[in-house]
Amino acid sequence: MKVCIVSSCLLGLACRYDGKAFVDLSENLKSKYLIVPVCPEQLSGLPTPREKCEIVGGDGFDVLSNRAKVMTESGRDVTDVFIKGAKMTLKICKITNAKIAFLKDFSPSCGVKSIYNGSFSGKKVRGVGVTTALLTKNKIKVEKII
Ligand code: SF4
Repeated sequence: MKVCIVSSCLLGLACRYDGKAFVDLSENLKSKYLIVPVCPEQLSGLPTPREKCEIVGGDGFDVLSNRAKVMTESGRDVTDVFIKGAKMTLKICKITNAKIAFLKDFSPSCGVKSIYNGSFSGKKVRGVGVTTALLTKNKIKVEKII
């Protein structure tokens, strides 16, 4: 059976920044894939719950190219931490031979189509999270689960 990586918070696991989870959305994937839950931000060593973070100055590709940063709402630069979480997620993809990941949109790590714009005002822009960018650069397909 093929392996897929899925954002842990979409599997009912309470790893979100606010300590909550979404309902388990794995039902349709189970018949096709062996599911490996991954939370890049927990893998990076960040606690749960943790401060809200957004990408400032671009998206995940810009972060990887040193053109944008990941900041907490109180102004701490956590760019290196987010890159670490992305690298660990890529490592899990390689260990498990996963070629596809279903990730949570809007997250500064897992965003697939859109992310928050860095102003902490709830506004979204087109763009991807840091983990999505790194997986995409390494030829791992990233899709939204819903
Ligand atoms: S969106 Fe990604 S980084 Fe955020 S809680 Fe879910 S799995 Fe973790």
